[in-house]
Amino acid sequence: MSRSLADARRWMREGTELLVQTTARLDEAAYEEPSRLPAWSRKHVVAHVAANADALANLVHWAATGTPTPMYASPEERAVGIEEGGRQPGGRLTEWLRLSCDALEKAMDALDEDRWAARVLTAQARAVPATEIPWLRSREVWVHAVDLGTGVRFGALPADFLTALCDDIVARRGGAPGQGITLEPTDAPGRWLLPSASGEPGETITVTGSLAEITAYLAGRDHGATTAGGAAAPALPAWL
Ligand code: ZN
Repeated sequence: MSRSLADARRWMREGTELLVQTTARLDEAAYEEPSRLPAWSRKHVVAHVAANADALANLVHWAATGTPTPMYASPEERAVGIEEGGRQPGGRLTEWLRLSCDALEKAMDALDEDRWAARVLTAQARAVPATEIPWLRSREVWVHAVDLGTGVRFGALPADFLTALCDDIVARRGGAPGQGITLEPTDAPGRWLLPSASGEPGETITVTGSLAEITAYLAGRDHGATTAGGAAAPALPAWL
């Protein structure tokens, strides 16, 4: 399935709404609790997602003006921002998130068809058209809404978004560390193949589960996907 700009902007808006509503309900004690990401509190997650909106707004500015404005000045700046964010009061993080999301949405509204086609560089130094920016943002808001650990699960995410995310991760992962893996959702059409990274052809292992479980597995999050025989799915290296 190929995703359109309209799809990506819809996913971005829906995911942003969920994330902003979720954070608005966190009091200071809840903000201090660990997220589902190793070593990060919920404050670190929200600081990272707010900073990501600012960073992607830099790319929108780049597309709008032609003046190169990278997402982050450096990887160090990105890390320091998350660390400092982890020490801010929760209320301020909620406000930063809301304002950064609004600014990003407005900046995108101002792009015309020509500017959407302009090329920008992602934080991984990948040259992409500006139309990829809403997709990059969709991934951030939805996956980190789950990472907050407030009860949002992959099963609550739109099925067409999950399918697009599986497509994206499979295309970007180098392959499976051991045997190739065939991924077969039990509740949605489509299947994916992660070839063996060693390039060896041969039998693949089938991993099955709901589309949400398959997505969580591919994204390196807690999941309930298993092999077709019910054994634990093979471990995958980190994604992104
Ligand atoms: Zn992120």
